[in-house]
Amino acid sequence: MTGAQPPPVRDDLKDLQPYGAPQIDVPVRLNTNENPYPPSPRLVRAVADAVAEAAGTLNRYPDRDAVELRKDLADYLGHGLTVGHLWAANGSNEVIQQLLQAFGGPGRRALGFDPGYAMYPLIARVTCTGWVAADRDEDFGLDPERAARVIEEAQPSLVFLASPNNPTGTAAPMEVIEAVCAAAPGLVVVDEAYAEFAREGTPSALTLLPRYPGLVVTRTMSKAFGMAGARIGYLAAAPEVVEKLLVVRLPYHLSAVTQAVARAALALAAEPLATVEKLRAERDGLVAWLRQRGLAVADSDANFVLFGEFDSRHAVWQGLLDRGVLVREVGPPRWLRVTVGTPAEMAAFRSALDEVLSQ
Ligand SMILES: *Cc1c(COP(=O)(O)O)cnc(C)c1O
Repeated sequence: MTGAQPPPVRDDLKDLQPYGAPQIDVPVRLNTNENPYPPSPRLVRAVADAVAEAAGTLNRYPDRDAVELRKDLADYLGHGLTVGHLWAANGSNEVIQQLLQAFGGPGRRALGFDPGYAMYPLIARVTCTGWVAADRDEDFGLDPERAARVIEEAQPSLVFLASPNNPTGTAAPMEVIEAVCAAAPGLVVVDEAYAEFAREGTPSALTLLPRYPGLVVTRTMSKAFGMAGARIGYLAAAPEVVEKLLVVRLPYHLSAVTQAVARAALALAAEPLATVEKLRAERDGLVAWLRQRGLAVADSDANFVLFGEFDSRHAVWQGLLDRGVLVREVGPPRWLRVTVGTPAEMAAFRSALDEVLSQ
């Protein structure tokens, strides 16, 4: 044959599989850390109205700098932040991709700590950024001096630190975040996707922004806001960092519909955020129940819990699935991760786990 043919994929991506949690259609899905509560009827109405208004102008490109949305996000975060400190994209995964496109790339490295979020090394690879995997401590924490040492040795252009961490669930204490910021020669990306779920008194890295011009704090509307389907993520950083992202973002990357949906949800933020209280209480109850059952459980500041340790976690995962409950096989080999759901979903999880473990 002659003429156009699909060439082989890039050599460095040859062995890569498309990323995604296996989705199985079961009654109780506790595997992707979504908020189990759908938007309230009032929020649904507000979103629908906002979309209807945006629909009337869809012949025009959207505001490519999403200025009104970034203002709203700055107001939501507080801490004296303004539109110039904020940036938004289609999920925080796109924010992370833009950070790696602008500040990583060929000849540069990014560093993260395992067990950690699988998307960091994956997006690093797709953007041709080297990846340095450092280890968390035995208890999934991070000793500040050791963290500083690995960063000083690797000299990465970016450090990724999720706090609360996924899949382990625990937030990093301020001294760890400060030690990382003090040691890093480049950007420090503190991924606060689960910040709203953190236990009382957990500090946010937002308080450190005035002190470290290389600090970036990412957030998302996918978890606490219950808007995973809308694809809205954002970051706060020094305006000089945000300006560099404008160079790599596609023009009009955030549709007028997405911007309208995000603003409508932010205007009623108190509603989705009311579910956070329920989910935190449910989480704390789940942690206590699992510990009572004699299982090891990582402290959780998120809307999921990592528990173990199983000789065959796959057998436990399968046993739960056979009973209609889907959790995630992720993280350290003898552990499983379960997302906090509604009280009914958690009751189903507990009775399924009881059955599986008493076999
Ligand atoms: C869920 C999650 C995100 C959010 O991804 P979106 O693209 O905003 O949906 C980011 N970071 C971590 C660690 C997560 O677990």
